[in-house]
Amino acid sequence: MSLKTNILGYPRVGANRELKKIEEAYWAGKASKEDLLKVAAEIRRSNWTLQKEAGITLIPSNDFSFYDQTLDMSLCVGAIPERYNALRNDRLDLYFAMAHGFQKNGIDVTAMEMTKWFDTNYHYIVPEFTKNQEFTLLYNKAAEEFKEALALGIKTKPVLIGPVTYLLLGKEKEKGFSRIDLIDRLLPVYVEMLKQLEAVGAEYVQIDEPILATDINEDIKDLYRKVYAEIVKSTKLKVILATYFDSLADNTDLAVDLNVSVLHIDLVRAPQQWKDVVARLKGNTVLSLGVVDGRNIWKNDFVQSLEIIEGVKHLLGEDRVIISTSCSLLHSPFDLENEKNEKSLPGEVKRWMAFARQKVAEVATLADLADNAPSEKAKVALQNNIVDIENRRSSGLTNNAEVRRRMAGITPDFARRNSPFATRIQVQRKVLNLPLFPTTTIGSFPQTVEVRSWRSKFKKGEITKVEYTNLLKGEIEKTIRKQEEIGLDVLVHGESERNDMVEYFGEQLSGFAFTQNGWVQSYGSRCVKPPVIFGDVSRPNAMTIDWITYAQSLTDKPVKGMLTGPVTILQWSFVRNDQPRAVTMKQIALAIRDEVVDLEKAGIKVIQIDEPAIREGLPLRKRDRKAYLDSAVEAFRISASGVKDETQIHTHMCYSEFNDIIDHIAMMDADVITIECARSQMELLDAFVKFKYPNEIGPGVYDIHSPRVPSVDEMVALMRKAAQVINPAQLWVNPDCGLKTRGWAETEASLRNMVEAAKKLRG
Ligand code: GLN
Ligand code: ZN
Repeated sequence: MSLKTNILGYPRVGANRELKKIEEAYWAGKASKEDLLKVAAEIRRSNWTLQKEAGITLIPSNDFSFYDQTLDMSLCVGAIPERYNALRNDRLDLYFAMAHGFQKNGIDVTAMEMTKWFDTNYHYIVPEFTKNQEFTLLYNKAAEEFKEALALGIKTKPVLIGPVTYLLLGKEKEKGFSRIDLIDRLLPVYVEMLKQLEAVGAEYVQIDEPILATDINEDIKDLYRKVYAEIVKSTKLKVILATYFDSLADNTDLAVDLNVSVLHIDLVRAPQQWKDVVARLKGNTVLSLGVVDGRNIWKNDFVQSLEIIEGVKHLLGEDRVIISTSCSLLHSPFDLENEKNEKSLPGEVKRWMAFARQKVAEVATLADLADNAPSEKAKVALQNNIVDIENRRSSGLTNNAEVRRRMAGITPDFARRNSPFATRIQVQRKVLNLPLFPTTTIGSFPQTVEVRSWRSKFKKGEITKVEYTNLLKGEIEKTIRKQEEIGLDVLVHGESERNDMVEYFGEQLSGFAFTQNGWVQSYGSRCVKPPVIFGDVSRPNAMTIDWITYAQSLTDKPVKGMLTGPVTILQWSFVRNDQPRAVTMKQIALAIRDEVVDLEKAGIKVIQIDEPAIREGLPLRKRDRKAYLDSAVEAFRISASGVKDETQIHTHMCYSEFNDIIDHIAMMDADVITIECARSQMELLDAFVKFKYPNEIGPGVYDIHSPRVPSVDEMVALMRKAAQVINPAQLWVNPDCGLKTRGWAETEASLRNMVEAAKKLRG
């Protein structure tokens, strides 16, 4: 008999992104609702069956979602903002309207806001609450899906977002109340939901409270006590309280006092926490050990996991131990067996990896191995695992002596420009000779269907490399001429050769591999396919020089070299877990540094290193933030500091809240930063009232996410607002972000107005 096993959640887009495809067809009016429901039911059936066949004890249900589990909860508890009232007669269409807005039949409503789920790249739909918010159980999705699985002969464990996490993830849409006070109205609805789950035959329920792994104050702790006292009292269901993404740390006492049947902890993010939790665990509470990483693609190290499992088993007894994934497998791709391209993913690297389906098997095997008499099959699996892990540890593919040597030779000077900004900017101004309020763009220009068709033809071998290069050169020339005509000051080549700002560099760096099907849900029907960083990173050849120097050869105006920074490359990849992330980040920094130096040698005077993802890596717990920010800033500086004073380094950031990390942004010491601002009407500027930003800065003056053409006057007004808190001599004029997703017509019109606005400001 093996120990009990638990999966916190399973990916729901389907092995071949079936859900994405059918949903997008449904939204476009090209598939019926019946088809959509059929595909969804098939995904659920297949997920449950696969886990049942793997021998999992606690198989999740209600982990499926057409868009997002937080939005599901809003719908179920009736937290539906008033603006959707006209759409209430069809539940699914109401749901999609909340997810992405509705513009049809004379109705025009905006979507609900979307934001990142903790420190993942998954986005949830933010619940909206009003002062008089009412909750009612509109729909018990969890009970419906439980019954559906039961009809297939599978008794599942429904998963719910916990009421405290749900409330805290939401937003007050009016003043004069706090959303935590809504708990008295929300809690009875949860209790009702649980009672119905009991009635349909559920035995367990998993309640997710990842907020317990974050810094919380006494009010929230009290809230937890009150909520779980009520839940535990009102239901006979065995409650699995799931925490993940960090340790319980100073919330450990609180969590063990909540008196639930099973407490789940993340032992991938915080392996050391098990001792503390076990020592404090009360009564008969069972511990669910999250040892298999739900957020990465590496094989579990069985020996390491068994060490923890044996330790806990020894202290609690095997009846009080459950083997589990660290968090939901939502953040892992579906099935490694679908990877068949030896060229982009070598067999040796694949051998070190595990996707969701393989992780389920790992959980089952670990539970088997933890038994006093493991099966023969499990013993063989353990031996194979030891060999694979050892193969990875000693592989020549992961270790590159030259990279190690360079890393060891990094001195503080690597992260320092030759002179301070005040000196550099004087030289740069002489070299560049730009007007006051210089204008520029963020990098990409419209990536038309035509441009994308060239790339796909080239990949399929339908056109030659020479043909492809010539087409792109034509596009670059067109882009340069357009910018000259519009009258911009610092030009870009337009990035038409790039499919994705991380993939493009990953494909040219050593230490990266690529999957064919390693899709992970980002939001709604959108999935991303992160590159895999498996080994030491280096840059065998120059990556951008040909394109940039070609662009520069066409004009007398400065053309910006355009690179993605080390923090962003790291953040948007699956990163090796056999060394600290900061080390991998530094290796990428060296590779980017090489490119920066080569660009300078090739005569490029302005180089932009994009870091839009810098804020995303911020740890959940305050105590870890400084270390992260320090290493991120250092990595950026290493990448940027190999050049002379006269070379101007730009960086760009977008779509996060930057006000609370502004001091670290300044420490990056880029000569110029362009930063997203327009959507929040320059809310960012609040930070500059108190904090004097030392270098040059271009607060974005128009939102590139809409085809709308901004007027000259509104951009002038925004810049004047900026000039109130920032010295005008420091200011640049630019859009919010790259123009890749826009059409040429609106791009041209907007940029002409922008240049006009800059001229007005100069006058
Ligand atoms: N240089 C990139 C572009 O213009 C920046 C993209 C981004 O910030 N996400 O597309
Ligand atoms: Zn951007």
